[in-house]
Amino acid sequence: VRTKDSTYEVHLGENILQSFCERNTEEFDKADQIVVITDENVWGLHQHYFDKNFAFDYKIHLVPNGESCKTFDSYFDVQTFLLQENCSRNSILLALGGGAVGDLTGFVASTFMRGIPFIQIPTTILAHDSAVGGKTAINHPNGKNMIGAFYQPKEVLYDFHFLQTLPKSEVRSGLAEVIKHALISDVKWSNEFLQLESIDAIQKEELLIWLEKGIRVKANIVELDEKEKSYRKYLNFGHTYGHAIEASIGYGKITHGEAVMIGMIPALMLSEIHGEVKSGYAHDIFQLANKLEYNLQHVLNCTFEQLATFMLKDKKTTNGELHFALLKHIGDPFIQVVSMDEVKKCDDQLRKWIK
Ligand code: NAD
Ligand code: ZN
Repeated sequence: VRTKDSTYEVHLGENILQSFCERNTEEFDKADQIVVITDENVWGLHQHYFDKNFAFDYKIHLVPNGESCKTFDSYFDVQTFLLQENCSRNSILLALGGGAVGDLTGFVASTFMRGIPFIQIPTTILAHDSAVGGKTAINHPNGKNMIGAFYQPKEVLYDFHFLQTLPKSEVRSGLAEVIKHALISDVKWSNEFLQLESIDAIQKEELLIWLEKGIRVKANIVELDEKEKSYRKYLNFGHTYGHAIEASIGYGKITHGEAVMIGMIPALMLSEIHGEVKSGYAHDIFQLANKLEYNLQHVLNCTFEQLATFMLKDKKTTNGELHFALLKHIGDPFIQVVSMDEVKKCDDQLRKWIK
């Protein structure tokens, strides 16, 4: 991944922690401290594999599981730990976990002593997205990801070994971002998903190919627009309505990916209107979401008024105008200003389909 100020590699494969150590021996030998930041779930499941394959001395700092680590308290605790361990600018942080651990660790790395190197070691499917691109953040009680920085990792090590222990709900969540990467980049690849009958029917080899493709889509867009001035907005496909669902239901009560999958349905309806996406594609994706058992009932648990309030608060809303990432054709995104009335019509339609 090449950005203005940095270039880094993304390595993918199964059981590649050992070769990662061999490749980085010089760097790790030079570091005065290596600190692994991970959550309790991941560490419980993977400490053995990590210790067996990681060849250097390290300090470990555990944070609460999942989203609950993206708080000011956790951020402060990590900084305190680093100071107590006499970390310096010659220390390296390893973010071992899902998107939450990656976002927290990246933000800590961007601010500890004005910036120290960190390496992303994603352990979820969703984190194929979050580990690449350098967006780091913690949450504020007034809004998710409100406090953060653009700060790129030194390397991304995506060892598929970790994915084996993912519960089905997290596979489902991560898959939504993979499907998003397909929809914004490649019609043929997108249509492959329509054939899918269930989460269990996904072949491992197939998933690994999708993850590599998804990372390439993300990396290409980040290279064009690291700071989200233009092209990077395309990655918000499904997220305007999706974030509103996530915020209305409550973070942690619905996975990010499940909300994004729901959000892509109205985004496709709008793409049929404002773009030239063939009529019926939104319904095809709705049916796919049903087959893969995304919980679409969540929509019925929010009122449109609630969703509208959150959509207006979205970081991407300017002067009350909703800026939706839509598709001209499948694989070909653009940004469109959409009125709340139009979104309401799509929301009505979606509710009818769900009932
Ligand atoms: P997560 O980090 O919250 O992990 C989900 C759950 O899975 C947690 O309970 C975690 O403990 C567990 N887990 C992680 N790896 C596991 C494994 N290998 N086996 C079993 N359990 C495991 O969630 P996520 O879905 O990976 O990421 C969501 C976060 O990512 C959100 O905070 C979101 O804001 C952020 N995000 C960031 C970006 C970005 O560009 N920075 C992009 C998308 C999402
Ligand atoms: Zn997302």
